Amino acid sequence: MSAQIGVTGLAVMGANLARNLARNGYTVALHNRSIEKTDALLSAHGEEGDFIRTETLQELVDSLEKPRRVLIMVKAGVPVDSVIGQLVPLLEPGDIVIDGGNSHFEDTRRREAALAEKDLHFVGVGVSGGEEGALLGPSIMPGGSRESYDSLGPMLEKIAAKYEGEPCCTWIGTDGAGHFVKMVHNGIEYADMQVIGEAYDLLRSAAGIEPAEQATIFNEWNTGQLSSFLIEITAEVLGHVDARTGKPFVDVVVDSAGQKGTGRWTVVSGLDLGSPVSAIAESVFARALSSQRGQREVAQETLQGAETAVELPDTFVDDVRQALYASKLVSYAQGIDMLNAAAREYGWDLKLDEIASLWRAGCIIRAELLDDIMKAYAGSEAPANLLFAPAFAESIAAAVPAWRRVVSVAVQLGIPVPVFSSSLAYYDGLRRKRLPAALTQGLRDLFGAHTYHRVDAEGTFHTMWGEDRAEVEAVDTH
Ligand code: NDP
Repeated sequence: MSAQIGVTGLAVMGANLARNLARNGYTVALHNRSIEKTDALLSAHGEEGDFIRTETLQELVDSLEKPRRVLIMVKAGVPVDSVIGQLVPLLEPGDIVIDGGNSHFEDTRRREAALAEKDLHFVGVGVSGGEEGALLGPSIMPGGSRESYDSLGPMLEKIAAKYEGEPCCTWIGTDGAGHFVKMVHNGIEYADMQVIGEAYDLLRSAAGIEPAEQATIFNEWNTGQLSSFLIEITAEVLGHVDARTGKPFVDVVVDSAGQKGTGRWTVVSGLDLGSPVSAIAESVFARALSSQRGQREVAQETLQGAETAVELPDTFVDDVRQALYASKLVSYAQGIDMLNAAAREYGWDLKLDEIASLWRAGCIIRAELLDDIMKAYAGSEAPANLLFAPAFAESIAAAVPAWRRVVSVAVQLGIPVPVFSSSLAYYDGLRRKRLPAALTQGLRDLFGAHTYHRVDAEGTFHTMWGEDRAEVEAVDTH
């Protein structure tokens, strides 16, 4: 018996993906650097399907039907290169090496190019949904060559999450496109969580609503416009009571948020592409600030606070819901804008409707909203910005008054709402007829002769600031 796919790296994600493949009828060859994980998986779940136990990469490769498919699920970074380095000499042209970990898309581009020289396919696959998703059906974002997807796609589609019967898996684009899209997904996930946190903080600190009551509010929100996995689990976490103290669980957790790096990658990439992903950036910075515990302690003693009481509008709770919705929409709009910028930069033909469609189930940001986003990009004329799609232009317009009220209350009370407020600034920045960027250009021309364009004439100009202030035509140095 030969296996249809081999998995090397059997920690939580690899083991669960291997089980998912076996449960779906595929024969799966198993390999892990240390044999204990392979044996633990086989003894706990060996009866779930057809597995082949292997101890070495050579045995793994020998157990596979051709062209071979080898899924690498080891720790991201150097270990992936190390495993690729050991695998490649054992493979033959046409074989497919798949990296399903959270690799940086630039690494994937490099690895794809290196393996292509040896006539091997390298497929970077973004997998979202955590360990449960890996087992029961994740959202899958495969890159690599179209040819490799013809061989690999049916398997991935079979094990992927389904939204109304449709698999949350489709070919994203060449080389690192899959990992790029997964990275942006994670960036949006950071923003999604931050806006939920800002809503919680406002409801608690401005309106005095305790976590248990907020759990009810979030559950209610989960039945409407905001319906999503993250809102659902927010209700669960806020409703949880600490067994040791009887306090709300959220009160016994240290308020310093961790991060593994994919949010930061999204922001760095956004900066590289000149893409204004401010909601994602503010979310990453908010986590960083939360972790500056020493400075926060000093600041509590030394920095001046704000007003302690502000009259809240009667509609405050629903205002917060609308501010959350609008800010969330902005973070999606920014993430999608960044996908467009990346498509131009890296030559990917990204299908935004398909990308939105495969985030509808299985992944952490799964939300009803994504079905509407998919529809917004499904037609022949894609909006230049998600916020311009008629359905969203209308729903964000309806939320704007509440959004402004909420940000204004937060500012008066000194409650930080970096994503609510920066998303509103992005919205206003987009819609303003004139921006102070004109002044910025004037300053840049004065101190650095960086030149400017005029609103009323073609060409590039420079003012002789240090001389007679005459305007001259110049070479564009923008
Ligand atoms: P880990 O990232 O914890 O990696 C552990 C696995 O990597 C073990 O199988 C380990 O083997 C192997 N490994 C580490 N270094 C080497 C090496 N130099 N050579 C060979 N094997 C090595 O496992 P996870 O299952 O948590 O994650 C796997 C990938 O999936 C990561 O890229 C992660 O970012 C990504 N991911 C994880 C999610 C999650 O929820 N955990 C969600 C989505 C993606 P050994 O047992 O011998 O030590």
